[in-house]
Amino acid sequence: MNLVDSLRNVLAGKQLLREEIPFEMVDSPLISIRPGILFDKKGRAQCNRCGNGDKELLAEFPCARCWKKCVYCRACIMMGRVSECTSLYGWSGEMPELVATPLEWNGSLSDGQQVASDRVVGAISHNEELLVWAVCGAGKTELLFKGIEVAFASGKRVCIATPRTDVVLELTPRLQSVFPSLQVASLYGGSDDHHQCSPLTITTTHQLLRFYQAFDVMIVDEVDAFPYSVDPKLQFAVMNSRKVDSCLIYLTATPSQKWQRECLSGKRNFVTIPARFHRHELPVPEFGWCGNWGKVVNKGRLPSKLQKWIEQRLLAGTPMLVFVPTVAWVAKLLPLMQMIDDRIESVHAEDHARKEKVLRMRKKKIPLLVTTTILERGVTFPGLDVAVLGSEDRIFSESALVQIAGRVGRSADKPFGNVTFFHNGRTQAMEKAKAQVVMMNKEAKAKGLVDK
Ligand SMILES: [Zn+2]
Ligand SMILES: [Zn+2]
Repeated sequence: MNLVDSLRNVLAGKQLLREEIPFEMVDSPLISIRPGILFDKKGRAQCNRCGNGDKELLAEFPCARCWKKCVYCRACIMMGRVSECTSLYGWSGEMPELVATPLEWNGSLSDGQQVASDRVVGAISHNEELLVWAVCGAGKTELLFKGIEVAFASGKRVCIATPRTDVVLELTPRLQSVFPSLQVASLYGGSDDHHQCSPLTITTTHQLLRFYQAFDVMIVDEVDAFPYSVDPKLQFAVMNSRKVDSCLIYLTATPSQKWQRECLSGKRNFVTIPARFHRHELPVPEFGWCGNWGKVVNKGRLPSKLQKWIEQRLLAGTPMLVFVPTVAWVAKLLPLMQMIDDRIESVHAEDHARKEKVLRMRKKKIPLLVTTTILERGVTFPGLDVAVLGSEDRIFSESALVQIAGRVGRSADKPFGNVTFFHNGRTQAMEKAKAQVVMMNKEAKAKGLVDK
């Protein structure tokens, strides 16, 4: 590859810092330059890379490069410092040619997936915005295949972005296997693909901060997940990395209240997949009142309803997840649960043995994991039952509860299971989570998407 070609691959659709591009390329006439920090007429600063205009997150420092007091952005500092005297480097030459590659997949779509797949193809062909509201276990990935193939065929560049690195690692081999002649670019903190320009980029939303008007098709998976849902710079990064004329597709099982309202009032273009791939209904959460459970636990006992729930399932050999509001409660509950069965374990966010414990649970070496909301997404165990203790806690939002309930009944050979919210007072979030599941089941039945 000659210098221009490799420079093009590094810079096309990007906004990089000087130190991020090879030294010998910096003076190329094909490089475009944008300022790192913008100032409006009133002198207010805004970061041109991440969109941050919050005074609290813009600071001054005595700069060794420009010898002035220089404004820099604290919001995106983890990607390298953008300051007043920093430039964002892009590519002004011809864009790399993207070669169309065919889809090689023999699977079939469920009726619900097919409807959504057709809508995705339509949105991609007409550069529209579309929300795909698909229940947990609907099979979100397959419904993208056709649309991506259609995009490639018209020379479009596609991005799948997600807040979570786990999802990038899961999706990359999946997409690579159905587009085998393609070199997928897989981007996350520490990945090796940063200098690769591919028709298909799968990335964390964080890494999108390095892109500028790159993609014709932007697909955001798990748009409701942390930290994307609460971090304006990541939302900016998604918008900033799209081309002006482009398609935007959001995928989620749990849209926010605001988005749900927009869907129902006709303000948002959306499609639902109300049923799971295996054509069985979603398990509807049950509520179990257990009073001031915190007091009981602090006295060294398990709430009796929860204890009974656990004992029944230990006898039946049913694997369990029990969600609690905080790590502190995990620590208090674990020894109490281990008095019933000493194989019971806990997992939390900073737990280095997290992957290993999940694996042991899959092998049925661990009958129950007690955990915080970190396991609300992504993990599946066949035949699982799930309880939440303290579901009235604020941490258990409507979407968190729907995600937690969505862990149950995922596999085709064990499509049923129990979800119980043990609580000390019903909350709106609990009621809404249940209502959402009931509504999806009703819709699935009406559309003939479930067998039962
Ligand atoms: Zn910034
Ligand atoms: Zn400076």
